[in-house]
Amino acid sequence: MLRAAMVFMILAGIFGLPAVMCSGCWSEIGRATGVDQIEKEGQALVDFLYSLSIIASIGSIITGALVARLKKFISGLLCFIFAICFALLLIQGNFFGLLSSLLLIISGVMIFVAPSEQFSAQTVKYEDVSVKSEKIKPSYQFCTKCGSKNESGNKFCSDCGEKY
Ligand SMILES: [Zn+2]
Repeated sequence: MLRAAMVFMILAGIFGLPAVMCSGCWSEIGRATGVDQIEKEGQALVDFLYSLSIIASIGSIITGALVARLKKFISGLLCFIFAICFALLLIQGNFFGLLSSLLLIISGVMIFVAPSEQFSAQTVKYEDVSVKSEKIKPSYQFCTKCGSKNESGNKFCSDCGEKY
């Protein structure tokens, strides 16, 4: 489930690249022709959408690659944020963003539906705890003062009374 979401997110980022280029074209055309010179707000919006599409595209690839390492809530949330970013490109009639947006929404839903155990952020903690508790529990320990063998868990040496 998580792997599918990961693949979807990376695909969304890759499919988003033409959207980025399209958005970039609009941005350049606006500047070169000077059509939008009177409407500076229009140019600002186009530029804003352009940078938004870059962030969404790169962001979804990175989040997709790290999805199992991030917390469930964060990666799910990022999915929907990037989906909204791509959806906003529709304002300028950029339909390349639509596919990426849909892919991101699907992967976002998959992330929220996926069981929390699949996210290493949670599972790593359990592994750490078990590894540590095994290390803490050697069956014997040796006294630093007299060197005699004592059962682990003893607070004082049974021979000389040295504190562990
Ligand atoms: Zn001792």
